[in-house]
Amino acid sequence: MVATAPTRRLIWRQAAVVATRDETPRARTLVLAVPGWPGHLPGQHLDVRLTAEDGYQAQRSYSLASPPEDPRPAITVERIEDGEVSPYLANELRQGDQLELRGPIGGYFTWTAGQGGPLLLVAGGSGIVPLMAMLRHRAATGSAAPARLLYSSRTYDDIFYRAELDRLVARDDGLTVVHTLTRRLPTDWSGRRGRIDRALLQEVAWTPAEHMHAFVCGPSALVEAVATALVNLGHEPARVKTERFGPTGS
Ligand SMILES: Cc1cc2nc3c(=O)[nH]c(=O)nc-3n(C[C@H](O)[C@H](O)[C@H](O)COP(=O)(O)OP(=O)(O)OC[C@H]3O[C@@H](n4cnc5c(N)ncnc54)[C@H](O)[C@@H]3O)c2cc1C
Repeated sequence: MVATAPTRRLIWRQAAVVATRDETPRARTLVLAVPGWPGHLPGQHLDVRLTAEDGYQAQRSYSLASPPEDPRPAITVERIEDGEVSPYLANELRQGDQLELRGPIGGYFTWTAGQGGPLLLVAGGSGIVPLMAMLRHRAATGSAAPARLLYSSRTYDDIFYRAELDRLVARDDGLTVVHTLTRRLPTDWSGRRGRIDRALLQEVAWTPAEHMHAFVCGPSALVEAVATALVNLGHEPARVKTERFGPTGS
């Protein structure tokens, strides 16, 4: 189930899209069949390579959304309006289409149930994807590691996996989810508003004495701000792991 030798992992493989699922108006999950897929750890990503008819190639990284327990790797791609690759993956690809990928990649930004908790997961936008793989793995293994997810989205409609997150919380197995919205709010919104700041982190995070494992993922500006705030709050830097998805703020 778990990844094999690095040399095998970095082979380009032909994958088929076996299902697609819209997560938000701008984000779509692609479920893939990948012959020879060696398995992965929650938090790892893969590279997708597209080749145009004239031979031009473009390559981008996408986190695995699926847990290792699922034999079919899945990614969730958010469409960046002026992007080269994401509009094709999120809009054009259909069931049965092929694409090239290699992976899994990365070993630092990973969590498995055996590492235990408590866990603090902080996501901005599509940064939820690798954290969702961790939460799905946590549920699949019946882990009781206490976990808190703090998840910043632009609007209610931009929240990935909303219903599934509600179902995971309803299992009542030690997971709490705090949403914050940075732009338009529904009139009946009961979550938080505004960007994640030090005060919100202090409220949601565990205390330094509880030695949490923190995973922070999203746009670079959010990741920098959150990681700095956590360290300033007294958390051990080595326990605050980060993954940056994009060059800009959300
Ligand atoms: C390890 C890793 C994992 C990733 N996982 C995911 C994932 O699970 N889902 C996902 O949707 N994306 C993920 N990304 C981002 C992804 O690799 C691409 O950067 C993104 O899809 C944009 O590619 P593009 O070709 O459409 O845009 P580009 O043509 O590369 O860029 C177009 C414009 O958008 C800006 N831009 C690029 N990326 C982003 C971004 N992420 N946010 C905001 N603006 C951006 C660029 O500065 C540029 O102005 C991940 C990135 C890394 C490094």
